[in-house]
Amino acid sequence: MSESFDVVVIGGGPSGSCAASMAAKAGLSVVLLERDKFPREHVGESLLPASMPILRELGVEAEIAAAGFPVKYGATMVWGSGSEPWTWRFSETNQEYTSAYQVNRPEFDTIILNRARALGVDVREETQVIEVIFQDDRAVGVSCRKRLEDHSFIESGMVIDCSGQSSLISRSKNLRQWDDSFQNLAIYGYFENAVSLPKPNENNIFIESFSEGWIWNIPLKGNIASVGIVLDSKKASKELQSRDVEDYFQANLSYAKESRRMLQSAKLLKPPKIVKDWSYTSTQIAGLSWVLAGDAACFIDPLFSSGVHMALMSGVLASAYAVTALSDPDMEIATAKVYEEMIRREYSLFRELAQLFYQTNRSIDSYFWEARKILDRDGTSTGREAFIKAVSGQSVRGYERAVLEKGELPQSFRYALESQQNQRHSRQRELGMYFSNWDNLVPYLHEDTYVARKPVLSAGRFEWGLVLHSPERQEGTDCSSFVALLLDLIDGEATMRLISERLRDKVDSPNKIVIDEYLKKTVEILYVEGAISRLRLVK
Ligand SMILES: Cc1cc2nc3c(=O)[nH]c(=O)nc-3n(C[C@H](O)[C@H](O)[C@H](O)COP(=O)(O)OP(=O)(O)OC[C@H]3O[C@@H](n4cnc5c(N)ncnc54)[C@H](O)[C@@H]3O)c2cc1C
Repeated sequence: MSESFDVVVIGGGPSGSCAASMAAKAGLSVVLLERDKFPREHVGESLLPASMPILRELGVEAEIAAAGFPVKYGATMVWGSGSEPWTWRFSETNQEYTSAYQVNRPEFDTIILNRARALGVDVREETQVIEVIFQDDRAVGVSCRKRLEDHSFIESGMVIDCSGQSSLISRSKNLRQWDDSFQNLAIYGYFENAVSLPKPNENNIFIESFSEGWIWNIPLKGNIASVGIVLDSKKASKELQSRDVEDYFQANLSYAKESRRMLQSAKLLKPPKIVKDWSYTSTQIAGLSWVLAGDAACFIDPLFSSGVHMALMSGVLASAYAVTALSDPDMEIATAKVYEEMIRREYSLFRELAQLFYQTNRSIDSYFWEARKILDRDGTSTGREAFIKAVSGQSVRGYERAVLEKGELPQSFRYALESQQNQRHSRQRELGMYFSNWDNLVPYLHEDTYVARKPVLSAGRFEWGLVLHSPERQEGTDCSSFVALLLDLIDGEATMRLISERLRDKVDSPNKIVIDEYLKKTVEILYVEGAISRLRLVK
């Protein structure tokens, strides 16, 4: 007889443990199947502050703080036109979460997996999922086996695939889409006794570009450093056919001045490992009773240490998708679409940042850097415009502007950013001049501005809500019913006085002063962002 759970989670990395924990917290029965025995080795040690609220939500914040992982405040880089290291700190743009950690992944991942267990998840290690079973297009469960025992079948209402780069569903359905922009390869290993960066940057991730690519050096606890080199995939694969991997690794490390100095008396603890072809997304990320999270969904070049953050974030969202689809099947298809949009947006932001950053390295003329500089020379990347808008309006993750400015952002990007900001400032000033004639202004909506009813994230699940789409926020942002009412009343004829009167008839609080205050504030935001395209003064 087969077993049955609300949710089967495949994989116990950060995305799997997080998704399983959140689903269990929401009251679902959850089984997590993990192929390996934890603690297991994994690359990807440098975290981002954006993950800190998620770790708090999972209830592991204190345990992680007590584990003695070095606290990371930013990065030190050799990149751009000079050869001297320069530093940026998260606190330059984000006052709330100013730090993250450099974690030993075996230990970090075990802490979160154990947390899932403590929250009631049935965690089964050394249990490999063989395949996800579909009936028509709907996932109905998985077949798995523990060690070499017979296959068993587990029935489920939702399968969350967190199998990392194995991407079980994506591979079986042929959904993987390689990203041509980052055809890189990494060789990495762990060193003892590496020289640290000078204080106060000793816990920063150190990134050094050199002729063949770039190097990361992440200080871990116990005087260990995770060190890796990122090279051109084709060239390095060819060279490695006739070279010993360790020799090749050490030779490349010695080409970079700072890394050579930091590693001169350090000892490589184990033979280095190789990872290649890692930048991809999936043509579909969620479907009927299945969803991909973490590396199983997509993976972007590790230049900005975004992997664990993407894994945790998508774990939270995938659980919310499961909770919603299981409790309200009518919302399933719409929620799957919103989930995909959210993951793709986050992926594109990091992709854009990495791509821009690759283009900024002007000091070195070599195959690796030339190839990456011409990737997107004409700025036609699909995400570029959205990224510029996001970065000019507010800080997306809190550090993009600091990084790009210090890394000598490309000229075309600088112009686009400046023009975006100038537009906002001039609209802000214009509005100030209109205020004295407020009652007689007629607002016009931009043709791309509308409000849609869609699933929006709210406390562990999705609920129906209102989403404002505008030229600045094509992906949409949650909005109140007040904004929806207001947009309905903007018809190119009604003045602010008339709109205010009509609003008073429609909203619960008929208090004129409050409504006028809301109206002014909302119109101001919509006008500065271009959602209201123009204002006309009538007598
Ligand atoms: C070179 C390199 C450097 C990186 N550096 C960083 C960094 O500095 N910072 C950062 O944040 N990220 C980094 N990353 C990315 C980071 O490692 C990943 O994004 C992150 O581990 C993804 O978490 P996950 O839970 O999705 O997958 P994983 O952590 O890979 O976990 C997947 C789990 O699924 C299990 N599994 C697989 N198949 C099955 C199956 N069939 N049945 C059951 N279990 C299965 C695996 O055993 C594994 O435990 C780096 C990646 C690379 C390649």
